[in-house]
Amino acid sequence: MTEHAHLATSADTPRGAAGSVTRDEDADVIVVGAGPSGATTAYYLAQAGLDVLMLEKARFPRDKVCGDGLTPRAVKTLVDMGVDVSPEAGWLRNKGLRVIGAGLRLELPWPELNAYPGYGLVRPRSSLDETLARRAQAAGAKLLEGVTVTGPLLDDQGTIKGVKTRTATDDPERTFRAPVVVAADGNSSRLSVAMGLAKRDDRPMGVAVRTYYTSPRHDDDYLESWLDLWDGERLLPGYGWIFGMGDGTSNVGLGLLNTSKAFGNTDYRELLRRWLSSMPEEWGYTEENRTEPVRGAALPMAFNRTPHYYRGLLLAGDAAGMVNPFNGEGIAYAMESGEILARTIAQAHARPTRAERERVLRGYPVALQQRYGGYYTLGRLFVQLIGQPKFMRYATKHGMSRPALMKFALKLLANLTDPSGGDAQDRVINGLARLAPTPR
Ligand SMILES: Cc1cc2nc3c(=O)[nH]c(=O)nc-3n(C[C@H](O)[C@H](O)[C@H](O)COP(=O)(O)OP(=O)(O)OC[C@H]3O[C@@H](n4cnc5c(N)ncnc54)[C@H](O)[C@@H]3O)c2cc1C
Repeated sequence: MTEHAHLATSADTPRGAAGSVTRDEDADVIVVGAGPSGATTAYYLAQAGLDVLMLEKARFPRDKVCGDGLTPRAVKTLVDMGVDVSPEAGWLRNKGLRVIGAGLRLELPWPELNAYPGYGLVRPRSSLDETLARRAQAAGAKLLEGVTVTGPLLDDQGTIKGVKTRTATDDPERTFRAPVVVAADGNSSRLSVAMGLAKRDDRPMGVAVRTYYTSPRHDDDYLESWLDLWDGERLLPGYGWIFGMGDGTSNVGLGLLNTSKAFGNTDYRELLRRWLSSMPEEWGYTEENRTEPVRGAALPMAFNRTPHYYRGLLLAGDAAGMVNPFNGEGIAYAMESGEILARTIAQAHARPTRAERERVLRGYPVALQQRYGGYYTLGRLFVQLIGQPKFMRYATKHGMSRPALMKFALKLLANLTDPSGGDAQDRVINGLARLAPTPR
């Protein structure tokens, strides 16, 4: 069958029954990338009975440059997916965030909430991401590893109807077809770019570097964040982190925001070296104890790429620019967007006509706006403010000496509130997020 004939068939065929792949389609949904957003999308789609094909260019276990820190928000998403996060299963829990700045040190326990557990976790990405991908497979999703998506298959109207792929070996190019395709291919999202969806330059972006050191602090039961990153006299907008991994090493790194002048002209590795050289020697953050190269990557924040639905393509996680601008957390948002996206597609799939399916899919960006738009608007304001060295200095100095204020800041920055029935702080944060405009 020619591609054109195929497209005509798949577009006009009424769909309805779950798992109703037509003769010439490979799946109901193709998910490109099997990181946290792709695996979560595939998991919920498979649970809803759809035929899901995940295409992943790497082979598990694979690394991803990350701090490996999971807040209670991320823990909830893991629990929702049926992941056993108990210490017996090898997960290291943490009680909260230790903040160091302006010569002070504050331990802020995670808030007590109904909506989220009272603990966070750490997990190397090589293990976390494989766990999630295997959960998706166990739910019924098909996963092809070592398969790189090279571009979209388009119909006459420019709507995506599948993808082209290659493997590391000399296999010929292949094509896979599905009426809906999900871009879960991370920050650079080549698939989105090929569909004409570039990053937005009016949204914040972070850059971070990290590595690992053997350290006696490896079993720290707090995530630790350092606000004092100096470039000469200038206090930089960002933070350094030390997360004990529980396996003899600490994940150590730092990140900056693009709202400061320092963003483009900072030598991140040198900044890391300078910052660590100020630490007590017995902590072990020295060259001899470094176990991995220093590697860096970008953090696309606050809906850094839009629209989230475009010509048959839906964007999740970093591809959709979902990182929280307040704290650089991305895993929870990748997984949450994957779940919202999967539920939207499952509903669309059950609609009998193409027009109805299209209407449902158009609801996805709206759902993201409703859930995160106001909060991300506040986040954008925040990153603008801390991009000014004077404000950053003022906020650190005055915040650190007021523990009650920092407790509030933790809730705001980690997006940890009860949506209803919470305390006064929850109501203030939720109210602000509701009132903040949600520009497209
Ligand atoms: C230095 C650093 C530290 C961070 N620390 C934290 C932290 O501590 N906690 C936290 O919550 N977040 C952190 N983040 C953010 C977090 O890493 C991301 O938000 C998260 O990985 C997004 O998940 P994702 O599934 O959308 O994308 P990714 O995790 O990037 O997964 C994308 C997947 O797609 C695959 N892929 C890409 N292109 C193709 C293709 N063409 N064909 C097939 N497959 C493809 C990739 O191999 C990858 O497996 C950090 C980020 C950085 C850079």
